[in-house]
Amino acid sequence: MRYFSTRGKDQLLSFEETVLTGLAPNGGLYIPENIPSLPHGWQIAWRNHSFVDLSVEVLSLYISPDEISRAELRALVEKSYCTFRHPDVTPVKKLDDKTYVLELFHGPTFAFKDVALQLLGNLFEFFLVRRNARKAAGEKQEKLTVIGATSGDTGSAAIYGLRNKANVSIFILHPKGRVSPIQEAQMTTVTDVNVHNLAVDGTFDDCQDMVKALFADKEFNATHRLGAVNSINWARILAQTVYYFLAYFHVTPQLPAGAALQFVVPTGNFGDILAGYYAKRMGLPMAQLVVATNENDILARFWRHGAYEKVDSGVGAGAAADGASDGKQAAGGVKETLSPAMDILVSSNFERLLWYLAYEGAAQDAASADRARTACTTLDGWMSEMKSDGRVQVPTAVLELARRDFLADKVSDEQTLETIRAYYSSQPSYVADPHTAVGLTAAGIVAPHNPLNVFQVVLSTAHPAKFSEAVTRALSSSTSFQFERDVLPEEFKGLLEKQRRVIEVEAPDIELVKKVIEQFVETETTGEAAPARASV
Ligand SMILES: *Cc1c(COP(=O)(O)O)cnc(C)c1O
Repeated sequence: MRYFSTRGKDQLLSFEETVLTGLAPNGGLYIPENIPSLPHGWQIAWRNHSFVDLSVEVLSLYISPDEISRAELRALVEKSYCTFRHPDVTPVKKLDDKTYVLELFHGPTFAFKDVALQLLGNLFEFFLVRRNARKAAGEKQEKLTVIGATSGDTGSAAIYGLRNKANVSIFILHPKGRVSPIQEAQMTTVTDVNVHNLAVDGTFDDCQDMVKALFADKEFNATHRLGAVNSINWARILAQTVYYFLAYFHVTPQLPAGAALQFVVPTGNFGDILAGYYAKRMGLPMAQLVVATNENDILARFWRHGAYEKVDSGVGAGAAADGASDGKQAAGGVKETLSPAMDILVSSNFERLLWYLAYEGAAQDAASADRARTACTTLDGWMSEMKSDGRVQVPTAVLELARRDFLADKVSDEQTLETIRAYYSSQPSYVADPHTAVGLTAAGIVAPHNPLNVFQVVLSTAHPAKFSEAVTRALSSSTSFQFERDVLPEEFKGLLEKQRRVIEVEAPDIELVKKVIEQFVETETTGEAAPARASV
């Protein structure tokens, strides 16, 4: 299996190159040459498989055995998911007769990104160690320096994915004093020598701007071989397809014959739900996937009127009578909501779905290779329109294709809080984090329109303790609720007191950040102990 960029098909990459490159040089995202079908008899052969077994089966359809043998793949997958606290890795729970939750938060940082990042870290290490072993004595060893900015939610999953990996260093910038105490502690209490937390005296935007500038700095990039772990990396999507299969095998035996599953996914950058789309296209039986957004609703608006646009131009006005309040559209900026991990302006992985829509929309009688080339050209046109005008309107036929596989709805903060309350006081009582609550709300909006044979599986993307502010706000009036007793996991207790390692950067100045990276990459090679606290 080889991979090419959504914006031009000239170059075909191996899985290894795809994973190590991340974003294609032409700005596109890598997708597989074709979507493999499930092997004959999969429903019987896989039905009692564990998460690890399923990962090996599904991933090997996308990775040639001469790149990673089946035995090596199994070892990588086992190593990635033994860090999860639940034997099922991503367990399913029944909430009521027609609703299940698929809990994706049993990994080291209590949020769904662990599923993908635990594997990605091991893949990076595997590839680099192998490349270095093939080098002649004295030849320069390959290393990867991963840089990222975080407002708190995602930095810790990246750090836990890459800690202690050979030939990889990770530098995560966060705005000092502006991330929640638990999230700050989750990141800075990882004291492995290859992990570096930079507390920058500035905002999250400052941090993100500096990271972008570092990637744009050709010389610095070449010297340090910068790597990114953001959600466009193909390996992250691939890792996430597995839990759709697991949920299918765990839920369907409980359902009447002829039942269909509908997955409802709290969505930001469209990575989680895109994995479901791949599972569907491979042949996993399911009803339409439901995109659940918060008030940053670029995707919900797309499914309403076929315009992918940063700022609501009002094309779909009047169609918003679904009970969601319209919120205040701050002059085109990202809105801060109670589900911050979904606060986005554009959805980076949506480009991959757009490519498939362009492909299906292209002349059906054309040979497959020509059709793919046409799709790249169409997609490239859409993305440059998006870049120059901030919006692109797709043809009606394309919107129809998108509606065949997906439904979409937006959910307000108020609805999110109401849903947390409703599920807490129902039987069985369930405490949902605000992201999961967005999914549960959307599930409720869609359900009355579903055929009777449809059962819903809502993806639960974070543990409620991780987003304690919203959960506490929703449930504070309930006398029976006690955060520490009902929600707080053992692992979080005492976290605030644990030893930390952090590098303070006194101004959002890119030269200071470069200095830190140079100095600490050096420390790692000499094996010198890094100080618990440093500043520049
Ligand atoms: C990242 C994240 C999401 C959104 O997932 P996408 O793949 O970006 O759509 C939802 N919930 C939580 C808790 C997350 O961390």
